[in-house]
Amino acid sequence: MLDLKSIRSNAAKVQEAADQKGIQVSVQELISWDDQRRALMRETESLREQRNLGSNRMGALLQAGEHAEAATLRESLKNLNEGLSSVEEKLEETVKNVQRLMLLIPNVPSPDSPIGQSDLDNVEVRCVGELPEWNFVPRNHMELGVLHDIIDMPRGVKVGGARSYYLKGAGLLLHRAVQQLALDMLLERGFTPMEVPLMVREEPLINTGHFPIGQEQTYAVNDADKWLVGTSEVPLVSYYADEVLDLQEPIKLAAVSNCFRSEVGSAGRDVRGLYRVHQFAKVEMVIICDPDEAKSEALLQEITSHAEELLSLLELPYRVMLVCTGDMSQKTYKQYDIETWMPSRETYGETHSSSNLLDFQARRSNIRCHDAERRLVYCHTLNNTAVASPRILIPLLENHQREDGSIYIPPALRKYMGNREVLMPLD
Ligand code: AMP
Repeated sequence: MLDLKSIRSNAAKVQEAADQKGIQVSVQELISWDDQRRALMRETESLREQRNLGSNRMGALLQAGEHAEAATLRESLKNLNEGLSSVEEKLEETVKNVQRLMLLIPNVPSPDSPIGQSDLDNVEVRCVGELPEWNFVPRNHMELGVLHDIIDMPRGVKVGGARSYYLKGAGLLLHRAVQQLALDMLLERGFTPMEVPLMVREEPLINTGHFPIGQEQTYAVNDADKWLVGTSEVPLVSYYADEVLDLQEPIKLAAVSNCFRSEVGSAGRDVRGLYRVHQFAKVEMVIICDPDEAKSEALLQEITSHAEELLSLLELPYRVMLVCTGDMSQKTYKQYDIETWMPSRETYGETHSSSNLLDFQARRSNIRCHDAERRLVYCHTLNNTAVASPRILIPLLENHQREDGSIYIPPALRKYMGNREVLMPLD
């Protein structure tokens, strides 16, 4: 959320950001509701003052035995109270409209974010690693999954419906190995590991900017008045909601969690294989730091480099994309997506997403710290994927396959895989 004062004084810029992000909201409408709110507040205050004066006068009249004058005053106080109630009702309605629109106002993207409409307009920043070349016809991850009996989608669909899967044997071990590798790396980098609530109330989702825009992506837990999170970013950031933090150093948190997404709106897209599923596991990094733009920019580069390091350990070719305005979410100031080479898709596919939100989430979540002058200010928050599986298994299996169907296991994963150097297909 942006500060209402700054929205009012930068209305054109904020409207431009909404348009560039494809968010349907009118900044002018917000300002006019806010004007009405201010006028109604002044009116309410003045009517309350008149009522208080009238009540005092009434007391004095009754004490003096001026019953006739008191009766006239009582009548006009009754009218004044009715008037006040109706203004208060209007004020309440107006405040609701201001709040509703405030929740739709986007963060203004960084000046270096490319302006564009979709991921096609994202700009490549760097490309790392060699693409594999084979003198045989490579298999896709689903074919490899069947060959090794490590991925079972038909039974997944039988049990869980569309986009469901089972991982078996070495499939499950690989799924857990990439997560443990990511977590071990983050522990070395000073992140605090957390187990987090995955069923949360509505408020953390609103406060972290996942609601109301994007609400349709989240599964409601019937009868519990709770929601299943699509990312542990929600409980990680919300851990510090309504707190004043002592930020000598940035706070670095990491969670390993399942994520649940309805993927509404993606019907017909990525329907085959493990790319887009309803339930997946993610190791997530969240950083909370003081609101120094140079510092949070440096931290954005840092968390992006952690993800890149992981991909290097997995020996996978990838590219880093600077995300354009139309492909970033409402809350984002600046975002890099990392895309990893997926041979069966004949292109890079997004595997990581790294964002700086400035104080947008912290303002909504009321997470503050003191600045150098001991004033209370809202913190900056950032997040990035360390690894998300099973999507990462697509490049892992496909890039590391050999002609006989065996799969090379990069050294960094071996200690989590019983020291196996290669996965051999079943007979
Ligand atoms: P996000 O939290 O939306 O930035 O996504 C972070 C990462 O989670 C993506 O880069 C993917 O690797 C993974 N991911 C997101 N949505 C899905 C999905 N529906 N199925 C599988 N993996 C996903």
